[in-house]
Amino acid sequence: NYHVVLAENRKLYNEVQDLKGNIRVYCRIRPFLPGQNQNHSTIEFAGEDGELIVSNPLKQGKDSRKLFKFNKVFGQAASQEEVFRDTQPLIRSVLDGYNVCIFAYGQTGAGKTYTMQIKYCFLDLHTLGIWNTTQPNGLAVPDASMHSVNSMTDVLELMNIGMTNRATSATALNERSSRSHSVLSIHVRGTDLKTNTLLRGCLHLVDLAGSERVDRSEATGDRLKEAQHINKSLSALGDVIFALAQKSSHVPYRNSKLTQLLQSSLGGQAKTLMFVQLNPDVASYSETISTLKFAERVSGVELGAARSNKEGKDVRELMEQLSSLKDAITRKD
Ligand code: ADP
Ligand code: MG
Repeated sequence: NYHVVLAENRKLYNEVQDLKGNIRVYCRIRPFLPGQNQNHSTIEFAGEDGELIVSNPLKQGKDSRKLFKFNKVFGQAASQEEVFRDTQPLIRSVLDGYNVCIFAYGQTGAGKTYTMQIKYCFLDLHTLGIWNTTQPNGLAVPDASMHSVNSMTDVLELMNIGMTNRATSATALNERSSRSHSVLSIHVRGTDLKTNTLLRGCLHLVDLAGSERVDRSEATGDRLKEAQHINKSLSALGDVIFALAQKSSHVPYRNSKLTQLLQSSLGGQAKTLMFVQLNPDVASYSETISTLKFAERVSGVELGAARSNKEGKDVRELMEQLSSLKDAITRKD
């Protein structure tokens, strides 16, 4: 029946994801906001196959166009629903006992928080009827707290408290700049009814602080110290990911609170998705390029399979099965 097909679909999706390696990078370009000059877009082309061409419209030249390729690119017209539809299977794999980490990376104002508004994903989990969270031991972060939730309303209330606690301050960037990382972790525990085994999964939703360089925000004093600290933890995150990529014997998790917290969700068993957020405005061109360079290094990473694929199927075979299951679902709708 429908639910069996759905479960089967999800299982296959996980296997496909396993085979692809476990770090994905999605790029999202936010639309121009009212009052921004739309003629000066740095995004020349954004294709569904993950290709992106960036150029500076004020400096035309032979070498001014830069091509990037990611797992996916969401253009300015992409709706929240579209983005969530692509993300939901990954989020659902938490229910199968995976650890999943979703990051939003990019300069202030590029749409990180907008993309991380995850209530639609929760609604989807809710309709699956899985809502009992328990309090695992070993919370690593001072000032963090853990709460049981029973409903969507509980989650939204907690998120509002988190938002209020989050430090923000106005900077010369003319926006309310986020000077802090925000991490929402959801621990899920469930039982596989077929085999009666206990499954534990964890989802981290990480809205990173703005990646812009310190000098642009013209910060001084405490603001400057804070900005340098943020840059340090962002580069610590980069260092961890690159160390994992190179299968280095030492992964420097301990260099920042952020990477310590996420340690169990950044290693071999976990799945990671990074949203690279871009502001298409020409004024952001140099930040856009440095954001994309960071992302390019991250996306070059293949950590290998998150879990071994017991049946040894190849990707194409799995993709074929997946699409025939999708057809089966469509026919039932
Ligand atoms: P950040 O968290 O990276 O600093 P925000 O998510 O706050 O950026 O986005 C900056 C502004 O742009 C906000 O007003 C937000 O509502 C708007 N915005 C961002 N992304 C989109 C989008 N895809 N569609 C419409 N508006 C967006
Ligand atoms: Mg934000």
